[in-house]
Amino acid sequence: MPTIKDNFDRVNKQIVDAVMSCGRKPDTIQLIAVSKRKSVKMIMEGIQAGAKHFGENYIQEAIEKIDVIGKNKICWHFIGHLQSNKAKFAVKYFEYIHTVDTLKLAKSIDKQAKKIDKIQKILVQVNIGKEETKSGTRTEETIELIKQISTFENLSLQGLMCMPPYFSDPEKARIYFKQLGLLKEKIMARKLGNVTMEHLSMGMSNDFKVAIEEGSTMVRVGTSIFGRRD
Ligand SMILES: *Cc1c(COP(=O)(O)O)cnc(C)c1O
Repeated sequence: MPTIKDNFDRVNKQIVDAVMSCGRKPDTIQLIAVSKRKSVKMIMEGIQAGAKHFGENYIQEAIEKIDVIGKNKICWHFIGHLQSNKAKFAVKYFEYIHTVDTLKLAKSIDKQAKKIDKIQKILVQVNIGKEETKSGTRTEETIELIKQISTFENLSLQGLMCMPPYFSDPEKARIYFKQLGLLKEKIMARKLGNVTMEHLSMGMSNDFKVAIEEGSTMVRVGTSIFGRRD
């Protein structure tokens, strides 16, 4: 059985290969180790292996783990669906929130960030595959939402996130990653305040190579590092 360190090293090497093969620099990609439903012990092994970015999906579970592990040396990313009434905890515990998809949620995060004098880094999640079961703003509504977000003083919009439909052949996801990249370009061209748009959070265990080729700057990898979730 490979250890978490073996897995982490292998994924890192695959990322470097993918980045170099498309002429980008390795330091343009953040590897987010997705630790949902994995223990503090396993996260510690990930930290030992050199992981600096971790992604969590569930607020209550994340609070329990982050209270033990801390957030000094680790950058925590919230990547799950967030309810407005939990915004307070997301703001307190996470450096990035990847899953902003409604004005109501953006407002709550801004309000909570203001209370603790924080500029909260966020990404807007786009439902790029138009799937009924998935969260995310509709592609055609994204620019309108972002215009409104740009007026919130305690939010710093850093980019877009997506989770395309699952395909066993990752090549089939390419078109969705491309679309998210194009949407990012469109938004950048508007030069809105509080909006930097430097990140594309896309690519998971199965398809991060393709996502990197299409411009991803944050890949979110769980299974290939920590093994399957039961
Ligand atoms: C669980 C999850 C991941 C990681 O998926 P793997 O296939 O295990 O790599 C990435 N992003 C989001 C939003 C997730 O919920």
